Amino acid sequence: PYVIAGPCIDIMDKSCFEECPVDCIYEGERKLYINPKECIDCGACEPVCPVEAISQDRRVPDDDSAFIEDNRQFFTEV
Ligand code: SF4
Repeated sequence: PYVIAGPCIDIMDKSCFEECPVDCIYEGERKLYINPKECIDCGACEPVCPVEAISQDRRVPDDDSAFIEDNRQFFTEV
């Protein structure tokens, strides 16, 4: 699945909302989150993000790997 990382924090532009064909992007307190169980890996959200916060989880740089965990927690809490 795709993952949203740090640049989204306090930005939450939401251009990706409209692009996602399965509506799997959710709003958190300070950033947006992609539900890894619902994401179909279409990639539509990645190019529209103005701060380039979105990437595929296996291409996430080490510095951003914490966001994969943060993402998991977001969806286990709800
Ligand atoms: Fe939605 Fe596609 Fe982005 Fe996954 S990759 S969050 S399905 S737009």
